[in-house]
Amino acid sequence: MTNLVLGAGISGLSAAHYLLKTAQKATVIESSSNLGGWIKSIREADVLFEQGPHTVRVAGDGGPNTLALVEDLGLADRLSPIKSSHPAVKNRMIYVKKNLHMLPSSITSLLTTRPPFTKPIVSAIFQDLKAPRKVCEDESIYEFVERRLGKEIADYLITAMVRGICAGDGKEISVKFLMKSLHEAEQAHGSVVKGMVQNMLRKQSPLLPGTESPLYKKAKDEKWSIWSLDGGLQVLPTTLAASVRTQGGEIVLDAPCVALKFGSGGAVVKTRSCTYEATHVFSSLPARGLAPLLREQHPALARELAGIPTVSVAVVNLRYEGRQLDREAFGFLVPSTENLPLLGVIFDSVCFPSGGDTVLTVMMGGRWFAEHLGTDPAPQHLLDLAEGYVRDILKIASPPRSHLVSVLRDCIPQYVVGHQARVARIKQYVSQHKLPLSLIGSSFDGVGVNDVILCARRAVDNVNPR
Ligand SMILES: Cc1cc2nc3c(=O)[nH]c(=O)nc-3n(C[C@H](O)[C@H](O)[C@H](O)COP(=O)(O)OP(=O)(O)OC[C@H]3O[C@@H](n4cnc5c(N)ncnc54)[C@H](O)[C@@H]3O)c2cc1C
Repeated sequence: MTNLVLGAGISGLSAAHYLLKTAQKATVIESSSNLGGWIKSIREADVLFEQGPHTVRVAGDGGPNTLALVEDLGLADRLSPIKSSHPAVKNRMIYVKKNLHMLPSSITSLLTTRPPFTKPIVSAIFQDLKAPRKVCEDESIYEFVERRLGKEIADYLITAMVRGICAGDGKEISVKFLMKSLHEAEQAHGSVVKGMVQNMLRKQSPLLPGTESPLYKKAKDEKWSIWSLDGGLQVLPTTLAASVRTQGGEIVLDAPCVALKFGSGGAVVKTRSCTYEATHVFSSLPARGLAPLLREQHPALARELAGIPTVSVAVVNLRYEGRQLDREAFGFLVPSTENLPLLGVIFDSVCFPSGGDTVLTVMMGGRWFAEHLGTDPAPQHLLDLAEGYVRDILKIASPPRSHLVSVLRDCIPQYVVGHQARVARIKQYVSQHKLPLSLIGSSFDGVGVNDVILCARRAVDNVNPR
């Protein structure tokens, strides 16, 4: 018997990798013919279009862990890092009232009033020190920031950031999604600023064992902020998959899991043509995709899983001839105040020069997909919309040399208010019923590439401690 991993996205493949590293068996079952899930890099002549994630962060708990994995897979030489001094890291813009505004990135810019703000950002500190504490278990990130730092910061910065990270609505997304430690600071100290100072004075938490890689040391010494890989981010899952196969793991493609049942000795998983028996199942399926598989045997668990919503995103990759941008930046985001289908535009060719041409990624829809784009928008309509935004906002009038239009259905889970409590109930159910099931993937403990790889590693360690 073996461990079964459902899904060959980055989390499923990582779980298989970590299982094999600890001398356990692993079979991965994937519904599509593709490796990497949402990580998809498509070469168009001599440029690269990223449909899903574009870059991975160095910072955070998961950053060192992913770099250790990259090194372990022999990909260190293919890494394309971007340092914290690079314009793609320092310069981020928002689009408000028909204008692009550079966000403050230095102490001086925090002290001066810059549109669209009517006060220096630093004045939010005084608001925070005056605002009373509101004792609460959870609330929306918008409510929290409006209460502590003011409406303008909530309207322009927070809604834009939430649209950029999870294509969601800041008024629905939980404060714990992006600002857990600031919320805890308020609950403990009555102020975000006081809490931040305490956090800064506190010793940094140690790295997880096995993640202090030479590559991470280099990243810290050279002050890398984000990175991709030569050939695109999909190189990571395809290399992982090759390594899984070399280590004796099996990856079965075009095999959607259609039934999952637990018994005393483990689990039985059915695809359309095969039945697999396993001692343990690691599911990286989106919670809503896993729910129907469990409905018959565990209806209460299925209901909780089905309660984690997702949103769809339209992605339009565009390549324009020559250098067309008049400023160097990561790109721009559009706050919810603008009520546009446009979530933001990434300036890919600023991050990674593309043979002298301008490469952009336009993202639209998200939480407002159906409202703005309908249920099944035609690719030409999405292309026209994207080209229109680029023409109006970035003043690029020429038609693109090439393009790629994709609709990513239900691609990003939404950690709405109450998400953390729901995930705790889900985990409690699994543990109380002693189900041989580990829930990994982006529906539960973080939506970034680093988060889901780390979650896979922790799940493997929990089942079989090293
Ligand atoms: C547009 C976009 C931009 C993003 N940008 C960034 C970024 O810049 N940086 C970053 O860190 N993160 C980013 N993310 C998030 C990141 O890409 C995802 O969190 C991550 O790729 C999720 O990986 P996963 O393996 O958990 O899930 P998935 O990629 O969803 O993989 C799940 C796999 O399960 C398979 N599957 C589904 N149902 C079944 C079934 N019944 N049986 C068998 N297999 C099944 C699917 O086909 C899929 O291959 C972005 C995501 C999107 C969508």
